[in-house]
Amino acid sequence: MQQQVREYDKKHGWSEDKASHIVLHMTEELGEIARRVLRRDGYKKEVFSRKELAEELTDILYLNLKLANTFKIDLQAEWGLMWERYRNKKTNRS
Ligand SMILES: [Mg+2]
Repeated sequence: MQQQVREYDKKHGWSEDKASHIVLHMTEELGEIARRVLRRDGYKKEVFSRKELAEELTDILYLNLKLANTFKIDLQAEWGLMWERYRNKKTNRS
C-alpha cells in the first residue's frame, strides 16, 4: 500500500508535501469519520451511511501511509513489531 501511495503522489507531484500539512489533513479526515459515527449514534440528524464511513476510513488510511512515506517508515515492519509489543504487554485482563 505504501508503494501504491508513493507512486500516486509522485505522479501528481505530491511527494514533497509537508508533514505538518499531511497531519492537518488527517485531522480533517478524522472529523469526517467522527461526523459519520455521530450520525450512526443519533447525535447528528443526518442519515448514517456505512459506505461514507468506509470512504472516510480509507481517506485517513491513505494519509497515514503518506505520512509514513514522508519519514521513510516501513509500516509493514512496524505492524509486526507492534504485535510483538502487544503480545508481551501486561494488561488487567491477562
Ligand atoms: Mg474524507
